[in-house]
Amino acid sequence: MLKILNYIDGELVSPASTLYLDNSNPAEGKVYSRIPDSNEQDVARATEAAKTSFTGWSSMPLDKRTAILLKIADLIDRDFEKLSLAESIDTGKPVALAKSMDISRASANIKFYATAAMHFASESHLMEGESINYTTRSAIGVAGCISPWNLPLYLFTWKIAPALAAGCTVVAKPSELTPMTAFLFSQLCIEAGLPKGVLNIVHGLGDKVGQAIIEHPDIPVISFTGGTITGRKIAATAAPMFKKLSLELGGKNPNIIFADCDFEQTMETSIRSSFSNQGEICLCGSRILVERSLYDRFVQEFVRRTQALIVGDPLDEKTKIGALISEAHMNKVLSYIELAKQEGGKILCGGKQIKISGRCENGYFVEPAVITGLNQNCRTNQEEIFGPVVTIMPFDKEEEAITFANDTAYGLSATIWTENLKRAHRVAHQLKSGIIWINCWLLRDLRTPFGGMKQSGVGREGGWEALRFFTEAKNVCIRL
Ligand code: NAD
Repeated sequence: MLKILNYIDGELVSPASTLYLDNSNPAEGKVYSRIPDSNEQDVARATEAAKTSFTGWSSMPLDKRTAILLKIADLIDRDFEKLSLAESIDTGKPVALAKSMDISRASANIKFYATAAMHFASESHLMEGESINYTTRSAIGVAGCISPWNLPLYLFTWKIAPALAAGCTVVAKPSELTPMTAFLFSQLCIEAGLPKGVLNIVHGLGDKVGQAIIEHPDIPVISFTGGTITGRKIAATAAPMFKKLSLELGGKNPNIIFADCDFEQTMETSIRSSFSNQGEICLCGSRILVERSLYDRFVQEFVRRTQALIVGDPLDEKTKIGALISEAHMNKVLSYIELAKQEGGKILCGGKQIKISGRCENGYFVEPAVITGLNQNCRTNQEEIFGPVVTIMPFDKEEEAITFANDTAYGLSATIWTENLKRAHRVAHQLKSGIIWINCWLLRDLRTPFGGMKQSGVGREGGWEALRFFTEAKNVCIRL
């Protein structure tokens, strides 16, 4: 059985403990590889390597650093099919989605930041007749990057690319549920000639490896994407150590649909924004709010299209909904369907585990569920489910839609559907979410700030925000 290895100081190595954990293929419910059960000793070795390589990497001429990163992106493109297949097997997501979203974006992330670093500039401020200030932005040091399982290589590269481009060296930890593409990526880094120690990947459990990264005194900057509960724990450890923190956390995103929307476009995109990646995207809209005059028509057509989605073998190119990430996560999603029933919800379709015949008969598949009849403040409408489950609720007035939309502890993203431009801007302005899409969803320009308000996170990724995050500003004032 394939053994995944850590990538430390330029080499693929076994964990200090010599112990390994099982890694499953969720579509088959079967262990298919083994992952290092690393601990604080591995993190210490990785951090030492990253510290040693920092001076060389941060002072390397920019064009050279960019060239190495672009080489890594080229190798991702070369291995596109292999990486897409690996991502699909490791996560249970349709291979077609791994191609169109995950792996193409992983390559784009690296290209974007490799070239952005060439244009990154700092400011100068003239106080007429008195002084001139100039600001330098230098790489902070060793960055800790911790990523989740839902978009494995996509989110892993979204963190390490700006860190490396800014001149930091990195100790990274992918999710223990989806380690495979990060392992393949480490092989590409070696092939591309990334200097040893610049990127270190330590595999293993969150409360061992992740916690050791957060606690390490020589890692002053932490970029984390994952659940809100984990984010809270990380902040509790890192804040008293005065570490710089970026937290990208959970969501309970509203999808607000006005009666004057372009119905076909709204419907087509809302199906995607609800169920792409089995609903396991932090940006999926899980609460659909529909203006009452459109409500019946919307619900009827939405249910019809949901029922038509093909749930099946992720390796079949026709599949739209693959397997959930694990048995535990599937059971969590199913428990929310039960909760929704207890709270008075009507399950219009889906919500049950389904058996796929053949190789996937033991996989973790759930039919996409549409629920109505719930009020806004019930748990089903307040807590992140992170699966193929949406609720639909009617609203009468614009103000009511805004109140419903804002009425959760989260504030990651929101979607607005209307042909009324004034209303679109007005509503967007009042929503307490970091990312708003009007008449579209998941349309991403990598230059824009990305992140959530309230319990959806602290800080922003994307564009200059991430390069600023991984650098420390120093202002120098000169009297004229
Ligand atoms: P998680 O919080 O369980 O794990 C995320 C990562 O943190 C994993 O690598 C895990 O091993 C590690 N970890 C766990 N405990 C840790 C600890 N004590 N210290 C350090 N690291 C620790 O999240 P998940 O289940 O992997 O991912 C799903 C969650 O991620 C959802 O809530 C989803 O909304 C969120 N998410 C947010 C965004 C965003 O951009 N805001 C993007 C994707 C996913």
